[in-house]
Amino acid sequence: MSVPECAQQKVDSVSDDLRKISLKVHENPELAWKEHTAHDALVDYLKGVSGVKVEEFEKYPTAFKATYSNGNGRTFALCSEYDALPEIGHGCGHNLIAVCGLGAFLAIKEAMDKGHVNGNLVLMGTPAEEGDAGKVRLMDIGAFVRTLSMTHLRVTFKGSPAHAGLAPWEGVNALDAAVLAYSAIGVLRQQIQPSCRASMLYLIRAPSAALVMDLKKKLTAAFEGAAMQTGCKAEITGGLLLKEMRNDVSLSIMGDMYDIPVRVATEECMGASSDFGNVTHAFPGCHPMFNIKSKNSNHTVEFTDASKSEQAHGEAMKHTTGMACTGIKFMTDDKFADKVKESWKDEMEKVKKEHESLKKD
Ligand SMILES: [Zn+2]
Repeated sequence: MSVPECAQQKVDSVSDDLRKISLKVHENPELAWKEHTAHDALVDYLKGVSGVKVEEFEKYPTAFKATYSNGNGRTFALCSEYDALPEIGHGCGHNLIAVCGLGAFLAIKEAMDKGHVNGNLVLMGTPAEEGDAGKVRLMDIGAFVRTLSMTHLRVTFKGSPAHAGLAPWEGVNALDAAVLAYSAIGVLRQQIQPSCRASMLYLIRAPSAALVMDLKKKLTAAFEGAAMQTGCKAEITGGLLLKEMRNDVSLSIMGDMYDIPVRVATEECMGASSDFGNVTHAFPGCHPMFNIKSKNSNHTVEFTDASKSEQAHGEAMKHTTGMACTGIKFMTDDKFADKVKESWKDEMEKVKKEHESLKKD
């Protein structure tokens, strides 16, 4: 039996178990950092697999790191996400993402046990993809293997109240500051590149972290200017920087190689952001995507419904096999592994140049 067939067979044999976990996660939607049911479902399953070590993190109790090793070799890591969205539950299909990571981990482990692969396998349980940036926080505490870009600005304009009829001149109008800031950003729009976005919530999205930081500087000046003109104080705080996804083109092979319809965003801009972007800046990585039959896109109730369907599970299992085969290839094929590392280095060179060219402007 070929190695991909071996992976496929393993995925088929655990598909029912994975379906149960996926439905359990779907039926118990939990928000960022509160994913205890999902965490327990995955960790309990992994603890029952012989030879797998599961590490937990005191600071982030709904995260985990499962590892399996069988001698010297490269390390390949997978991520499982499992947090839900407020009110609509699993409208981003993280119940499927959770079991894709677990299934691919089990399939690669099977190939390792059969003697086809040597090395180290990791499954990161990564909470809080929505509403926070769990992967960034986990990288910060060194939880990862070794250790569209987005950020947000929170602005509070502080004025002071006065009686509108008796002494309006004694007031400092915070709403005026907000309106001026809104107008300033409206004018600034002419100079904002078409692919960048700044909404009234001041979520800044752009194709690269460099462009986000550039836009952040311009918006900060607009807020400070509005505060100055109205006599208000502007308190500006920023959020974590979500870097743009830099999918490793060499890793993005599963669609072609395994005849598995997986879409990988590389050159084109996705229009959304993920904390996995930061992972792709720290390691060669790839965020494959697949379609499920939903009447509406991610973050809608229709998508929540679609992500529990048999069809969605079937797509997830195909995708799981593709990820497992890619991992096996990376761990066994020296030339391929070198190519993956080279294309990542090239990509990081591009990132560096983009930062440098913006600094010169
Ligand atoms: Zn989402």
